[in-house]
Order: sequence, then C-alpha cells, then structure tokens
Amino acid sequence: MYMIGAMGKTAGTIVIGGGVIGLATALELQTRGQSVTLLEAKTCGAGCSTKALGTLLTPLPTRDGELSQSIRQSLNMYGDFIQTLEELSGIHTGHAIKGHIHVPVGEAQIQAYVREFALEHCWLERISRQQAADLEPQIDFSAADEIIFDPTSHQIDPVKVIDALKISCQRAGVVIQEHTPVINIQDGPVVHTQNDVLSAGTVVIAGGLHSTDLAKKLGMTFPIKPVRGQALEVAAAGPIVSRTVKFSKHLHLTPRPNNHVVIGATTEPGVWDDEPVKADIEHLLAEAKKVAPALAGAKIMRTWAGLRPKGPKGRPYIGPVEGHKNIYLSAGHYKIGFYLAPLSAQRVAQMVCS
Ligand SMILES: Cc1cc2nc3c(=O)[nH]c(=O)nc-3n(C[C@H](O)[C@H](O)[C@H](O)COP(=O)(O)OP(=O)(O)OC[C@H]3O[C@@H](n4cnc5c(N)ncnc54)[C@H](O)[C@@H]3O)c2cc1C
Repeated sequence: MYMIGAMGKTAGTIVIGGGVIGLATALELQTRGQSVTLLEAKTCGAGCSTKALGTLLTPLPTRDGELSQSIRQSLNMYGDFIQTLEELSGIHTGHAIKGHIHVPVGEAQIQAYVREFALEHCWLERISRQQAADLEPQIDFSAADEIIFDPTSHQIDPVKVIDALKISCQRAGVVIQEHTPVINIQDGPVVHTQNDVLSAGTVVIAGGLHSTDLAKKLGMTFPIKPVRGQALEVAAAGPIVSRTVKFSKHLHLTPRPNNHVVIGATTEPGVWDDEPVKADIEHLLAEAKKVAPALAGAKIMRTWAGLRPKGPKGRPYIGPVEGHKNIYLSAGHYKIGFYLAPLSAQRVAQMVCS
C-alpha cells in the first residue's frame, strides 16, 4: 500500500477520482511503469461515468476543429483500448462498431447534412425509409424526411467499461482506495485525505465535476459546471434496436443485451440535483414509444440522473496545473468522457513520463 519514509507516507503517483478518466489514466500510467494509487471519494464509477449512454458517434466530416480531431484520434485508439481491458479483466464491455442511424429534425439539421454530403470524403450514407427499416425493423421511420446512417460509430456499455477498467487497474498493480475523499492538495505534491497525508511523485486530478474545488486549492480557476442528464433502461419483450438510433439531441435509443434498451437523455444546464424526476422519465419513455411502438409494455429496470462535468466552452482541460510542479488536471469532459478516455489517458501519461 503506502511506504513509510522519513517524509511520512509516500505514494508514487496519485490519481484522484475513479471515473472513466481517472481509471483510464491510472491504467496507462501503471502500464508505463509508474506505481499508481487511485483515491476515490465514493466507489469507482459513482460519479457521472456509470450514467452515460455509451454512444460514441464519429464527428461529422465537416467538423475539423481541435476537439473533433481529438475525438477522431481517440476513437481510432478504441479497438486497442477495449482489447486491453477485456483481456486484462475478462469482462465483455459491449463494444461494437455497428454505426448509428440519425433522423435529423428540422430544416437546419437537414441542410447541415447536405453540406456534409457535398464533401468528397463523406462516409455518411443517406438511406431510404425501407433501408432504415431493414436495419432496425422495430423503429417507425414513417415520419422521417431524411435518414442518415453512419457506419463508423461505436457503442459500449459504460457500466461494464468501468467494471473492466477497475479490475484491469487492480490486475496491473494500481492500488485503488475507495471511500477516500481527497480534502487538500499542496505543493510537494502532498495529498491530504481524512486519515492520511501522502507525499507523491506526481498527482493527477481527475475528479470530474469536483475537480474545480481541488484546482482552486492550488490557485487554479477552471470552472466546471453540471449539466444534468436523465435516462432510463427498459426491458422489452423482444429486440428493439441493435445500434443507436438518434431522433433528436434528447432522444437516443441505445441497445443493451437481453432486449434491454437505454433511452435518454435530457440536457439540463446548472442543475446539481442527481435524482431523476418521474415526470421527465415518463416523458422520455413516451417519446421513445412513439418511434418504437414495441416498447409498449416494456418494464423499467433502472432510471438515473447524472451530472455531466462541463468545462468552459464544453471543453476539457488536460495538462499541468500551472505553477505547481508534477500536478496535472484532466477534467471537464462534459458529454464526451468515454470518447476521450483513451486519448486523455495517453496525453497525461506522456506529460508525466516525459
Ligand atoms: C445521461 C448521460 C449520458 C451520457 N452519455 C455519454 C456517452 O454516450 N458518451 C460519452 O462519452 N459520455 C457520455 N456522458 C458523459 C460522461 O458520463 C462523462 O463525460 C464522464 O463520465 C466524465 O468522467 P470523469 O471521470 O471525468 O468524471 P466522473 O465519472 O464524475 O468521475 C469523477 C470521480 O471523482 C471522484 N471524486 C470527486 N472529487 C473527489 C475527491 N475530492 N477525492 C476523491 N475522489 C473524488 C468522484 O466521486 C467520481 O467518482 C453522459 C453523461 C450522462 C449524465
């Protein structure tokens, strides 16, 4: 566990936070020869990460900004990332590249796709209602003016990915301490928990939404705001979807094994309460039933609300905490923590190990 030395207890590299970002970073650092201790306030995945839908959609061809490029780069790493997790943990993560179907709503969205199709290298397919029904026979596409199929999108089961990451970390040698909130960080770096003061070679803050408070203790301002997302998982009598079908920003149907479907999600900026609201869940289910009539009679298995950690302009910060040697921050991943986990982990590990 910890070494007791002249300076008190020492832990090689400390990662704070056991969400997808902290776990992926801890695994990458340990794999590169660091001796990692991960401190998690509650249990791994208790933050936003087990609340995700698990849809990893490739950015549209015209999106060429830095963030879209990073997402593409990270998605290109996904096959290897998942293979490592599945081999180390023995857990199947539900990863598949089955693409997704999008029914754009409104003229602006349709026109946006027209611009995409004008590009020579556009990989999206404009499909007919019949082609869509052939792919997803339980979905009613009769009201759709346009239907887009992107064959490149990935899907995962976030709960399984978190389980696989936690077990992989432990098998690789990461020491995971749950129920251990970090209450202060100082130069050194030194990390304070309720019971210990730990000196570390390196500290990585990956506390999702709460990273703001930890960064503030070091004089860094990086405001991360909550954006609540509510969703539910239902069990249907038969198959509903075999890939993500997206009707609007707020209505995605994503498959899970055994005829289960995840339906979500709301986007509610500034809401700190992570209890699902019955009326909002009922609304999501009612909207889903309109496009998937076979959901009638489906049993609700789980409902939830997660607080997405939104960094300024919806972008994460992955880098050093300025003015503090060997302290890094990787947080603010908003709606794309799973998309960016492999790349975020690699970037932090490169900085730490260089
Ligand atoms: C409804 C919904 C749908 C989503 N769908 C997707 C999706 O399809 N694809 C996608 O990529 N993303 C999706 N997201 C977003 C995704 O869940 C987040 O981007 C991701 O989980 C952020 O991971 P994280 O590790 O930064 O934060 P978290 O998962 O919140 O982890 C942070 C951890 O740090 C711990 N912590 C905080 N403070 C301390 C402290 N002081 N000491 C010790 N530990 C601490 C917390 O307990 C927590 O476990 C969705 C989110 C929601 C709510």
